Amino acid sequence: MERLKGIGVSAGVAVGPALVAIQRTQVIRFPIGADRVARELSALEHARARSHEQLQQIRRRIAELKGSDLAAIFDAQLLMLDDPVLVRRAETIIADERVNAEWAVQRAFDEIAAVFNDVEDPYLHERKGDLHDVAGRLRLNLRGEKGGARDLLQDLDTPCVLIADELTPSVVAQLDWNRILGFATDAGSRTYHTAILARSLGVPAVVGLRNVSRRIPAGASVIVDGDTGDVTIDPAAADRQEAEARTCLQRARPPAPRAEGPNDTTDGIRIQLLANIERSDDVALALASGAEGIGLYRSEFLLAGGPPDLAGEDEQYEVYRHVVENMAPRAVTIRTFDIDERQLARPLADMALDARWFPEHERSGHAGLRGIRFGLAQPAIFKTQLRALLRAAAHGSLRVMFPFVSSVQEVRAARALLADARGELEARGVPAPSVPVGIMIEVPSAAFTASLLAREVDFFTIGTNDLIQYTLAVDRTDERVSDRYEPLHPAVLRLIRQVRRGAVREGIPVAVCGEMASDPVLLRLLIGCGLTEFSMTPGAITIARRVVQETSAGEMARIAARVMTLGTVDDIERFLLESFGQRDTSEAPTR
Ligand code: PEP
Ligand code: MG
Repeated sequence: MERLKGIGVSAGVAVGPALVAIQRTQVIRFPIGADRVARELSALEHARARSHEQLQQIRRRIAELKGSDLAAIFDAQLLMLDDPVLVRRAETIIADERVNAEWAVQRAFDEIAAVFNDVEDPYLHERKGDLHDVAGRLRLNLRGEKGGARDLLQDLDTPCVLIADELTPSVVAQLDWNRILGFATDAGSRTYHTAILARSLGVPAVVGLRNVSRRIPAGASVIVDGDTGDVTIDPAAADRQEAEARTCLQRARPPAPRAEGPNDTTDGIRIQLLANIERSDDVALALASGAEGIGLYRSEFLLAGGPPDLAGEDEQYEVYRHVVENMAPRAVTIRTFDIDERQLARPLADMALDARWFPEHERSGHAGLRGIRFGLAQPAIFKTQLRALLRAAAHGSLRVMFPFVSSVQEVRAARALLADARGELEARGVPAPSVPVGIMIEVPSAAFTASLLAREVDFFTIGTNDLIQYTLAVDRTDERVSDRYEPLHPAVLRLIRQVRRGAVREGIPVAVCGEMASDPVLLRLLIGCGLTEFSMTPGAITIARRVVQETSAGEMARIAARVMTLGTVDDIERFLLESFGQRDTSEAPTR
């Protein structure tokens, strides 16, 4: 038995097996129980086979289109997939260290890359790039496999106590909170925020434990006592019984949200909850979560098999049509490829890695020829996608959205290409219905000119992941500043307010699709800012529904108005805790 002392931020006690989530690094790491090892190994093997298949397919298509010399560049990657160095090493890491496959692949890559780094050889440098691509592809494919990180978080066999290094919105969004009995975190820096989160979810929580996530093995029995701030690892039988007896006396958790029907706040404001998806197969997940539509389909994920110029119009049309038909009559907002020019040169859609786990990974600093800028620079590729979208629009309700917009000129130029694409279809005798056209507001210049941009488009979607990063000039992959990535920064809140006002003035709808929307605390504040449409990862919709059903939009509007007068994130968090974090009895935490 071992007892650790932290800060109790949400009252009550939780007893159960530990689920350990560590995401300090870019790839999330889960220590896994012995019973999960075989599943992770098999997930890795499937991912390897799938990667092999994809690379063979790309190789064949490039050979057909561009000749066999170019296609040969994939031979090295195919060999690496079969070579024991990467995959076998990852298997050993899974078995010996009892960690999830995705982390093991990353670790194996890091080890080999370190060896390459020590040698000044241009040939080896190039091989390192190949290896990086292969590891990226394996990880991407692992996400779709049973046993991936998403699966571990969502498909919990038994109710667990979550032990994490920190609770970021992306982890919060992935969890099935009906199965989380309580949680404890290393981090103490976001105490207020975590307190509000725990209290609104009605679970006991202790924070500020420094290294609890490293000290508790996955599956170990733990007690999290939110009243005293104690976390007990492998408790004695008597302590365990006492804690279990206390759990029986605890106040009931908030009721489960109504699964059906509209999502209204307590004062009758209708809130729309939509899903962000990356793959056409995610439609089933979105429907199961009760999503009222797709607010963001990150279409670049369909390029995981190759560069954008190889994704043909027919192939894209089939994918979009599948999504639109399966979501009908609900609307589907498809974002045109948010990629940059490097994807033309480098065949792997590395940067398309799941944004839920890597909101910033490989994206930070991508302020070059990206998103709509890339589309305008590569009109042939852009128009191919636009034609596919227009054709798919005939099968349901489809909206087209341009990413990374920073000026009115870009929107006009993109709309002109959309008109060209329509003309090309009509010339072929193919019906091309008119579609609503919107833009992501994720670059500060777009936010500042929202009222001008609103005259050019049919809707806005605020992408808070990029908007925060570029507004605060914070590279989240740089550990020295990543703690400054702060959704509650007054500048971010003011910009969001400004965007909403611009949209309202011109009478167009505005949604939020960044991670902010999946965080219960921030969601309430956004409702207070007058936003009513939110798109999030499907796993987050259940909690969001509960939050909406417990929130008074009028009261939140008063809270939001006061928040706008506060100068620091600390002040804002403290005020929010006082305002709506007092579900339980514990005192306001100290930082
Ligand atoms: C965003 O920037 O908030 C967003 C939703 O886009 P992505 O995460 O795909 O960059
Ligand atoms: Mg973005």
